[in-house]
Amino acid sequence: MSESVVVVGAGLAGLRTVEELRRAGFGGAITLAGAEAHPPYDRPPLSKQILAGTMTPDQVVLRNEDALRELDVTLRLGAKATRLDRMSRKVEFDDGTVLEYDHLVVATGITPRRLPIGTELAGVHVLRTIDDALAFRAELAEAASVLVVGAGFIGCEVAAGLRSAGQDVVLVEGQEQPLAGVLGPEVGELVARLHRAAGVDLRCGVSVAELFGTDRVRGARLSDGAEVAAPVVLSGIGSRPAVEWLQDSGLVLDNGVRCDERGRTNDPRVWAVGDVAAWWDPASGRHLRVEHWTGAGEQAAIVAGELCGTGSAERGVPYFWSDQYDVKLQGFGHFGPDDEVAVAFDDGRRFVALYSRGATVTGAVGGGVPRTMIKLRALLARGASTEEALAVVAATTTPVPSAVAQPAATADR
Ligand SMILES: Cc1cc2nc3c(=O)[nH]c(=O)nc-3n(C[C@H](O)[C@H](O)[C@H](O)COP(=O)(O)OP(=O)(O)OC[C@H]3O[C@@H](n4cnc5c(N)ncnc54)[C@H](O)[C@@H]3O)c2cc1C
Repeated sequence: MSESVVVVGAGLAGLRTVEELRRAGFGGAITLAGAEAHPPYDRPPLSKQILAGTMTPDQVVLRNEDALRELDVTLRLGAKATRLDRMSRKVEFDDGTVLEYDHLVVATGITPRRLPIGTELAGVHVLRTIDDALAFRAELAEAASVLVVGAGFIGCEVAAGLRSAGQDVVLVEGQEQPLAGVLGPEVGELVARLHRAAGVDLRCGVSVAELFGTDRVRGARLSDGAEVAAPVVLSGIGSRPAVEWLQDSGLVLDNGVRCDERGRTNDPRVWAVGDVAAWWDPASGRHLRVEHWTGAGEQAAIVAGELCGTGSAERGVPYFWSDQYDVKLQGFGHFGPDDEVAVAFDDGRRFVALYSRGATVTGAVGGGVPRTMIKLRALLARGASTEEALAVVAATTTPVPSAVAQPAATADR
């Protein structure tokens, strides 16, 4: 096949698509275009090691220039796509250039939502890019405390990282528990416990009503009337798919770029991968957009296989992880908000929660129990019963009364 592929979005999913195309034997021209000036880099360390100062920006680069050259890809960095014309198969960019394609892969990820208040104040940050992370980190040394708005994955990880480094943190969440929207209130409560035990000032069920200060943010008034000092604010209130450039393209956009279960959009020459893509999920019978690292690589392999006609790659059991203190949160499965949740193990710090639909286990979320989670993953892959999953949890965990003081991973068998 000597047709050309243009991949828009030079993040994880975009890079993986290029790599998988070459691995599958694609011999045509590939262009990888991305809005950021940096070569593709890894985002998970941004809220962990980069913030803690234990990794440098060059250590998060996914492929250096030599390694990119090996892929025989034309790299166009600092080029933001502004429009897609599917009729003439052209992508327009903000520098006035136009790229023609035979096949297009959309991999533009997500854009963080910003607080609608205090937009003019310095010191209010979001965290999606390496530049965001460095700008936020640069202000931490001078800050007596940090206000983190939103206890989703990013907010929780940032709160955990800062608190572990001894910083005072106020974490504000509109729902009644952290992460309740994705993991449910039961698991949210276990996550809340971790943060409170570490000394985070966690305030749930409230929002930020006002940010005040002149030029720089100084403090915040919460919806319950409380005031908190906020010399630095990190907003982690969610994100939206980066699809502005596709608005008049005729692609079906509905919480991301709508795709079938192999990543194809309503245009057979256009595909979408990664955080921006809402793939059909036969297991749950709906289109799902997943903002996790592992899925991006799996989707890239599937799309590359389809493009090259070698399409045998399949998705694994959906997986995410999140590092908070010494506890690695891990989640496997296709669980949704309507599933039943049962906490199958809880020793005061480490835990396992099982999600079920009828008698079938649909997902598992564990905190600090990596070996149990590996076993549960195998069960989830074959659609096992909740009873079997409970037996695995019972056989692989030992409640340790003093576990609160122990490193999490050493206490499960
Ligand atoms: C701070 C942080 C921590 C994370 N930690 C974890 C974790 O612990 N575990 C986990 O499972 N997942 C984690 N994730 C999620 C994971 O990093 C993402 O799922 C993954 O990066 C998705 O890859 P992507 O290529 O779809 O998006 P991205 O990596 O965001 O890449 C999209 C790229 O497209 C570019 N772009 C956007 N619009 C345009 C345009 N119009 N034209 C050209 N280019 C454009 C963007 O600038 C960006 O470079 C984390 C994410 C962040 C931000």
